[in-house]
Amino acid sequence: MKTQHTTLLVIGGGPGGYVAAIRAAQLGIPTVLVEGDRLGGTCLNIGCIPSKALIHVADEFDAACRFASPNASIGIRVREPSIDLAQAHRWKQGVVGKLTGGVGALLRKNGVQVVKGFATIVDGKQVDVRPADGEPLRIQCDHLLLATGSVPVELPSLPFGGRVVSSTEALDLEPKPQHLVVVGAGYIGLELGIAWRKLGSEVAVVEATSRVLPAYDEELTQPVLATLKKLGVVLHLGCSAEGLNATGDGLRVRTPNADEYVLPADRILVAVGRRPRTNGFNLESLRLDMAGRAVKIDEQCRTSMRNVWAIGDVTGEPMLAHRAMAQGEMVAEIVAGHRRRFAPAAIPAICFTDPEVVTVGQTAEDALRDNVQAVSATFPFSANGRALSVEGSAGFVRVVAREDNHLILGWQAVGKGVSELSAAFCYSLEMGARLEDVGAIVHAHPTLGEAVQEVALRAMGRAIHI
Ligand code: FAD
Ligand code: NAD
Repeated sequence: MKTQHTTLLVIGGGPGGYVAAIRAAQLGIPTVLVEGDRLGGTCLNIGCIPSKALIHVADEFDAACRFASPNASIGIRVREPSIDLAQAHRWKQGVVGKLTGGVGALLRKNGVQVVKGFATIVDGKQVDVRPADGEPLRIQCDHLLLATGSVPVELPSLPFGGRVVSSTEALDLEPKPQHLVVVGAGYIGLELGIAWRKLGSEVAVVEATSRVLPAYDEELTQPVLATLKKLGVVLHLGCSAEGLNATGDGLRVRTPNADEYVLPADRILVAVGRRPRTNGFNLESLRLDMAGRAVKIDEQCRTSMRNVWAIGDVTGEPMLAHRAMAQGEMVAEIVAGHRRRFAPAAIPAICFTDPEVVTVGQTAEDALRDNVQAVSATFPFSANGRALSVEGSAGFVRVVAREDNHLILGWQAVGKGVSELSAAFCYSLEMGARLEDVGAIVHAHPTLGEAVQEVALRAMGRAIHI
């Protein structure tokens, strides 16, 4: 078997792995990245990017359908809009292709050696790769970085296959399902469930807990709940998915009272979480300390074995692309001798539902749990000129700050386009801003950002526009 040596060997070319490899190469570290499938990983190929592209198509089609109604309030009239789903999927793949091609080009430009093939661990310093074409290769390294990501959780009663699909297949459905049943009202279930409803499918959502997006506070999810009702997405809350019915064309659902009924389903999207990808490549032979199903890491992303590092989804929650990237950049710098640790003031979380939901930092309940006296205020988008002028008056911005010195602890927002406010929220937390700082900044008019300033003023009892 051919053998080669490198300083840093990265397994996995998703956002965590490719960012780590690029940064390491920039710092002059000989770096090899092994990817068994497609560069860009889950995020670029079957996650963040294609899902947001599909949501965009669905939003545009939904708007066209609304304009077909004689009562469309903004005066645009459209006759019988239709959708060419095959073209929509081609466009979506085009977006994916541009970004994954860009990742390949960046890796090349920075001098990262990319090996295409599945990696199997030999020990903490050696990995065997089976390239799709070409000879098997043994790569020896000084540092091994695990960035193998995650896979969808399968329900024993609904194994993937046939009508039962994961998010991967749900991004590419064609023709559109007549009846789509979504199991799990979390990020994936609601982002994709709303998109397919807007594309014309009948959508039912089966959720084990008593409300949608249970990871977010209830007030924040109310505008999303209102959209689900308006769109006619049927919710089955507190219910469990029991498996396919005898004829295989429906999902058996059990209510909290143990009643059972069948929902018609030509597709069932199971979106009940993802689990770290820790098996199938001999990782277990390293006997690393684990945190549940995830690889246990410290604040520098070190595992329990010297010079074996882990980043991104394989290290557990929060399983978000920007966390993986930030960890990857940090590990590369530590390997290059920099002093770094992973201690962001906050990691933003955004759910790209209709409307969007953003949380950064603490809620008032979180502060209370930490025995911190906090003040909190909300500002509704119904009092914001920009929101009203783009038909986005549902929702609000909320700020949480320490009562004693007004240091900002957290932000929450729900509304059309609020994902773009996450940058301002993160800056204020990372820079240790107080309510007075944000309240004193001149915000451009008319923008959603004015609601950020107003809510800071409101928390101090001196909002102008409410
Ligand atoms: P991954 O992106 O999963 O990459 C891991 C890579 O490792 C894969 O390419 C895999 O092929 C490769 N690999 C694994 N084992 C081996 C091996 N033995 N040999 C060689 N290669 C191997 N996050 C957000 O922040 N925002 C979003 O909007 C968002 N939307 C999402 C939508 C969907 C539908 C899904 C499924 C996820 C979404 N996520 C989102 C989550 C995001 O995709 C992940 O957090 C992110 O991709 C994690 O990056 P990673 O580098 O840890 O792993
Ligand atoms: P999730 O954890 O967001 O939601 C899973 C939902 O399924 C929860 O509401 C849970 O109560 C429910 N559930 C669990 N078991 C169930 C059962 N047996 N029957 C019915 N309901 C059940 O998980 P997800 O939506 O699969 O997403 C996985 C991960 O992918 C997320 O945690 C996130 O890290 C990432 N992601 C992020 C984004 C984003 O950042 N916008 C988008 C999509 C995915």
